[in-house]
Amino acid sequence: MYDVIIIGGGPAGLTAAVYACRAGKRVLVVEKDGFGGQIAQSPRVENFPGFASVSGTELADRLLSQAMDQGAEVELEEVTEVRAEGAVKTLCCASGAQFTARAVILAAGAKPRMLGLAREEELTGKGVSYCAVCDGAFYKGSDVAVVGGGSSALQDALLLSESCRRVYLIHRRESFRGEAALAAALARRDNVEILRSAQVKALLGEDELRGVVVDCAGQRRELALDGLFIAVGAQPDLAAFAPLLALDDAGYAAAAEDCRTPTAGLFVAGDCRKKTVRQLTTAVADGAVAALAAVEWLDSV
Ligand code: NAP
Repeated sequence: MYDVIIIGGGPAGLTAAVYACRAGKRVLVVEKDGFGGQIAQSPRVENFPGFASVSGTELADRLLSQAMDQGAEVELEEVTEVRAEGAVKTLCCASGAQFTARAVILAAGAKPRMLGLAREEELTGKGVSYCAVCDGAFYKGSDVAVVGGGSSALQDALLLSESCRRVYLIHRRESFRGEAALAAALARRDNVEILRSAQVKALLGEDELRGVVVDCAGQRRELALDGLFIAVGAQPDLAAFAPLLALDDAGYAAAAEDCRTPTAGLFVAGDCRKKTVRQLTTAVADGAVAALAAVEWLDSV
């Protein structure tokens, strides 16, 4: 029996682990994919205080080592259900494993949002990707496109422009939501073409992606492509825990600033929490707040 189990090994979850361990609690972090969460896919982070520039993977490695050095145990498992029966919470995993704890911190992050195009799922891994850092190297010397107008899309386009022959950035508006510094860096690349007020309407290719049809401000354009990188934000995946949470229409878990949920002993932290600013800094802040709230709750029951 653990004092605290943290679901999700991203910045919020690993920070929560550091704080809960330092408060003397027995802590387990359960992660289903890879530790570090979304930040592990960021080529360069330049807005984390204290680090002028650091790669997402290095930051993820440091967070994990710090949590483990403080005594956190870790498991690679997919939690499919949390049962809250009396004072004990039981976590059921896809493998059949079960873990029990008195308090649970849900820091499950968010998963990439899909564009919702016909055959998008079928062509994923066959030219369609949601991770330029993971898959960009396969497209050296090729023609690719990135969809989106946030910092992720701008960063992905910058990264791909270093090794690809041509990069199109397809954004549905005239202006970018992402950081101005990234947009300015992109405008200086001569192998990048930015298509504004543009939307991908169809994916071309049978067994693998060969191109896309784009509506560019009312004009139909066909782009021949080897790869399409979709970076249109993320959405939470909390359906499995819905009975214990108050989810808003977009699927985020409502919780007060102290990260408490309507279920006693269940806390929520990071990108899956309903809030207005989702940044690395706000994720780690949530992790600290949720852990301290969980410690206070454990010590009071
Ligand atoms: P985001 O900021 O939510 O941006 C998503 C982009 O995708 C927006 O431009 C949005 O368009 C577009 N979009 C959404 N749905 C779409 C659809 N169905 N079709 C076409 N376009 C669509 O997501 P993000 O870029 O992944 O960033 C997430 C968070 O991480 C942000 O807070 C960001 O600042 C942060 N981040 C920071 C860094 C960094 O500092 N190094 C790097 C990456 C991300 P609209 O603009 O029209 O809504």
